[in-house]
Amino acid sequence: MGQGGAQRPSVYDNVMRQFDKAADLMKLDPDIRKILATTKNEIIVHFPVKMDDGTIEMFSGYRVQHNDVLGPYKGGLRFHPSVDLDEVRALATWMTWKSALVDIPFGGAKGGIQFEPAEYSPRELERITRRFAFSLGCSIGPEYDIPAPDVNTNPQIMAWILDTYLSMMPPQERNRSVHVVTGKPVGLGGSLGRDKATGQGIVYLIEQWAKDSDFDLHGATYTVQGFGNVGGWAARLLKPHGARLVAVEDATGAIANPEGIDPDKLAEHVKVHRGVRGYARMDLIDHETFLSTSADLFIPAALENQITAETASLLDVKLVAEGANGPTDPDGDLILEEKGIDLLPDVLCNAGGVIVSYYEWLQNKRSEFWELEEVDGKLQRRLLVAYGRVRDTARRVGTDWRTAAYMIALSRLERVYKERGIFP
Ligand code: GLU
Repeated sequence: MGQGGAQRPSVYDNVMRQFDKAADLMKLDPDIRKILATTKNEIIVHFPVKMDDGTIEMFSGYRVQHNDVLGPYKGGLRFHPSVDLDEVRALATWMTWKSALVDIPFGGAKGGIQFEPAEYSPRELERITRRFAFSLGCSIGPEYDIPAPDVNTNPQIMAWILDTYLSMMPPQERNRSVHVVTGKPVGLGGSLGRDKATGQGIVYLIEQWAKDSDFDLHGATYTVQGFGNVGGWAARLLKPHGARLVAVEDATGAIANPEGIDPDKLAEHVKVHRGVRGYARMDLIDHETFLSTSADLFIPAALENQITAETASLLDVKLVAEGANGPTDPDGDLILEEKGIDLLPDVLCNAGGVIVSYYEWLQNKRSEFWELEEVDGKLQRRLLVAYGRVRDTARRVGTDWRTAAYMIALSRLERVYKERGIFP
């Protein structure tokens, strides 16, 4: 997808620009500002893995722990060639804001391995994952730092990390440590509803936005970028509302059909062909045409820096609902505002994943197993409380929704730092 230019823009710069804007506006305590502008721990591991042909390949893995004042570090692991320290720092920082905004007792972290998983066999993928978990060792832990799925990782990957981590523990510790990762397969202590949680959260929020905006989702049109766990679920869960998916883009290309693309059938295709390319023999459209597609809603659910100074002007939608982390850069934000496009910012819009991760973690700690209705109901209530706070803060202060979301998150962190003080 269009990154444009040889030099990759720094995603961490984007986070800091967003942070500075909110911190200035709310007059965040300057001492606490220094703390929150810095990550706590940055772990880089280089590790060897034996390939199927017997040769050894070296991999670089990352885990950045941004902040843990509200609770254990929490955040996903991604497997992607773009993973580097700058990106992981940014993603870890967003996790801190996200957990603070939706009021769950977690801090922020993120990690991953810099590689293209599609180029490796399933056995190699397992060895890469296990060796990464081994290299991280006690840098993760059920009450310390809890990974979860992210781009190109899934419940199976979490199961391998869990198994590797538990194998390093004394036997009597193992069964009480299953909450070292979330997003596990349900049979291994995963939660019902975790798989769809991020997409489900996006749809709950879009429903609320539609109510507030007097907008009828029935007959509405939407476009989705990224058809992985987040984009795929969001697209499918919007279908029962009578909305029509008119264009989709992923790493394999983009397709469009004004009559509508069936997200359930597309999901089947993507499972087999690993991308949207070739679906129903549709011709591919180019990236610019995709972004210019006229629709009511756009759900970016892929990577960072998609809506920028160059691309934001192409958008012809009423709402951008950010399923991805950091899809809009600060220049893109200004253009969206100028164009009067509403925004559900990432730290709110995609928080469903980490919220249900929290529910999974709680179920594991209490040896409980919740019904799907309970998980979904709790998720919806928590998200709508956060939505209401963001909307009201944006109105009261007269700012955009992203800045409002930051202000709420930063106030919570500021309050806790003031209460706890700094050691020594
Ligand atoms: N990777 C997801 C996110 O970016 C989920 C994180 C989690 O569940 O810990 O929010």
